[in-house]
Amino acid sequence: MSTIIRKASIMGGDPADIRIEDGQIVAVGVNVGGADVEIDASGLIALPGLVDLHTHLREPGGESSETILSGSRAAAAGGFTAVHAMANTSPVADNANVVDYVYRKGLEAGYVEVRPVGAVTHNLAGESLADIGAMARSTAAVTVFSDDGKCVGDSLLMRRALEYVATFGGVIAQHAQDPRLTIDAQMNEGAMSAELGLAGWPRVAEEAIIARDVLLAEYTGARLHVCHLSTAGSVEVIRWAKQRGIQVTAEATPHHLLLTDDLAQNYNPLFKVNPPLRTRDDVEAVRRGVADGTIDIVATDHAPHGSATKDCTWSDASFGMVGLESALSIVQHALVDTGLIGWADVARIMSTTPARIGSVDGYDAPLTVGSLANITLVDPSATTVWGADKLAGRSTNTPFTGLTLPGRVVHTFFRGTHTVRDGSIVELSQAGNA
Ligand SMILES: [Zn+2]
Repeated sequence: MSTIIRKASIMGGDPADIRIEDGQIVAVGVNVGGADVEIDASGLIALPGLVDLHTHLREPGGESSETILSGSRAAAAGGFTAVHAMANTSPVADNANVVDYVYRKGLEAGYVEVRPVGAVTHNLAGESLADIGAMARSTAAVTVFSDDGKCVGDSLLMRRALEYVATFGGVIAQHAQDPRLTIDAQMNEGAMSAELGLAGWPRVAEEAIIARDVLLAEYTGARLHVCHLSTAGSVEVIRWAKQRGIQVTAEATPHHLLLTDDLAQNYNPLFKVNPPLRTRDDVEAVRRGVADGTIDIVATDHAPHGSATKDCTWSDASFGMVGLESALSIVQHALVDTGLIGWADVARIMSTTPARIGSVDGYDAPLTVGSLANITLVDPSATTVWGADKLAGRSTNTPFTGLTLPGRVVHTFFRGTHTVRDGSIVELSQAGNA
């Protein structure tokens, strides 16, 4: 079957038609012929399918909050064609069996490419290395390893992990949180935590681990990726490390590009997240860090939680918020509509660079002839009053309810398969369509 997307603005540039056959882009330009299906994309921007380096799909073990299928659908709705599923499931993805299970379930769902992330340490316990080699050699061919949710605090283990993954081109994605400095921490340490009487989470707990880890990356010659950095100081450490030529990449989440710690003032647990929301100065520094390339990518840290762990007091609530479906709109709102970056930069920070860091094939020369037809068509002039009713996943813990957000994902194609059509998720038969 052939499909033609008519008059899409290619990454915000000139309009062109895109012809898709057998999952590939076979023509881009003005005379691309006719097709079985034609889509009028006038006014829409064509982006390469988005790639998330940091998603929690909760399966196995947390299916009441999210499943690989429900999370894949949410991802497609948000314009994603690949997601990296974090390892903090139950059982933990610290061996080949679990990562292959996640990988296979992703294929069965068929909405996005699900790339399992392997744990760095057994059972995320921080005591001994997980079966990193076996996961790398598995069918899932894991290249990204992370204890996300927990920090690899032990310096020697971190060194060994970096040395190990360097042998096959893998990367350690660190959740930078000094455990001793954040015992019982509930929110950013500062004036607001003092006013609210909540235990503070100092910036230095993040910055000190990042500083240690970039030096370990330099010493070992390995690749380090820093998850969800949240402070102005963290941006400075990454900037310094890059100037020294250290192989480090960094991500920021959409919520750390927008929200601040004063939102905790009503003790609404929807704003409780790890790392915590920081101050306006931090948000500005993180935005500038993305704009000047110090921060390489935006990753969602999509963290679904059921009402039992969110509809409770702040201190009892789990950390995290869902983010797959709102990510592109938040990036447009915080970075594009503010003039800090353009749409080609959005393609870079949300698709091609995360694909490169995560070794996802097919994103090197996006939207060109011969590339996989992973395409997201977004209407930048649309606006949406955000709310839980906009969400396709199993959990509704979004902090953006009531906010008017710009932009809307109108179509998503995953390897030529139409996964979102006119803003609605396409029902795929759940076998073998990927
Ligand atoms: Zn994390």
